[in-house]
Amino acid sequence: MPHASIVINQCTLDDHKLQVLTMDLNSNRLQNTSTASSLNNREARNAYQRQWRARRTEAQKALRRQADASYREQRTASLNEEQRVLRRETNAQRQRNVRAAGVSSQRMALNAAQQRTYTQRRINDQIARNNLQIQAESVANDDESTVLEHYCGKLEDQCYECKALHFTSESSNFKTIYDVNGGIARVKTFTKCCKNGQIKLDELPHYPEPFLTWMKNEDAMAKNFMENIRAVNSSFAFASMGANIKPPPGYGPYCFRIHGQIYHRASTLHPPAGNDRQYGQLYILDTEQANAERANHSSNGAIDSSVFQLIADFMERNNPITQAYKMLYQVEQESIHEAQANGIQVKEVTMAIVHDRKSDPRRHNAATANEVAVVFTNKDGLPPTNWDLLIHAKCAPDDQSKGMQRIDVTHKNLEALTYPILFPYGDQGWGVDLLRNKTGTRSRISQMEYYSYRLAIRENFNALLSAGKLTQQYFVDAYVKNGG
Ligand SMILES: [Zn+2]
Repeated sequence: MPHASIVINQCTLDDHKLQVLTMDLNSNRLQNTSTASSLNNREARNAYQRQWRARRTEAQKALRRQADASYREQRTASLNEEQRVLRRETNAQRQRNVRAAGVSSQRMALNAAQQRTYTQRRINDQIARNNLQIQAESVANDDESTVLEHYCGKLEDQCYECKALHFTSESSNFKTIYDVNGGIARVKTFTKCCKNGQIKLDELPHYPEPFLTWMKNEDAMAKNFMENIRAVNSSFAFASMGANIKPPPGYGPYCFRIHGQIYHRASTLHPPAGNDRQYGQLYILDTEQANAERANHSSNGAIDSSVFQLIADFMERNNPITQAYKMLYQVEQESIHEAQANGIQVKEVTMAIVHDRKSDPRRHNAATANEVAVVFTNKDGLPPTNWDLLIHAKCAPDDQSKGMQRIDVTHKNLEALTYPILFPYGDQGWGVDLLRNKTGTRSRISQMEYYSYRLAIRENFNALLSAGKLTQQYFVDAYVKNGG
């Protein structure tokens, strides 16, 4: 920098030299800045600039100060009074902004705290990685002595939206709640139970007696019921659940395990000639006769006859599907009598277990109907929709399936038909038309979300979680329905 030494020695500076030197310095700075920018790293660039400033000689610094002062003088001189006032106000405001942003000691404390958090997180991550490494090695070496116990906290955190109980460490996210009285609260958010309030299903009716007592108590009848609960459920089911059941080998607690698929089938009102009545076909018999048939079944030998009697009484009084089967039988008998009286052909009778219970327009044309089903004769009524499950009175002579028809897993009445012990009032289950409570990215409730909501632990008694072996079967069934 020859110009710089000349300036210092002469201690004078004419305009031309000033211009040349300023250009020289600026171009140098631009080059350096440009070089530093190319490092594409703010930290590295700052360090580079600090070094560059430190390398400048005293002469260069003095020259720079002088050039800056001269530039300011020229610039100030060129401003009018109004511009000067504006500039002073701008500077004052900038200073106020800096003060408002906090004194430097506070900023430093904040930065230090953030740094500590970051460091702690890195340490925790490293510990977790090391633990995983240790455990992986232990498993590989068949050594369980070093496997660490995981503790996920108590089951005491309640979802604000659906009141499901969760383990403490299931969520670390919060949201702010504003109540109508102006109160504000911070609550934890959970997605497993209700997708943070997006899923809201109608509550199932209060679980009735005698089932409630049997699931809670330990007396002889309760034990008999719980021990045989899967067989009891099958005895009163309207439709069959077929699976290749393969318990795991060896001893241990009960485990419901299947191999392959599960099939749900409904039958005609009457069995083919020579076959025993089963499932929904039993409901047209009087209670005593039906229970005798149930007790005769090979897998029901251990079931207390009082259990059969109490459940049959309950179903007779409270289950609408029981009444639907009786209704179908009644219409069929009327049709036969009418045909005999008039010497005409017997009308074909069919029952549709409806998908849409609330508003089915075909009820007006049905021979008879209740809340879950409508019965048609062949000449009357509109054809049922694809959603409905049709129960015919008799199977055709050439029917290879012997009147058994498969029920689609999307049918809303499937669970009421196959799990009368879990849904004693015939409540409907998941259907494709179930919608979310709040607007989300998807408006329909998936089958998985439905089960997550229903199977969450809440303070109310939940029969789906309390039915022992039948709960296991229900879980496996739900898992397979979801595509396994
Ligand atoms: Zn919830």
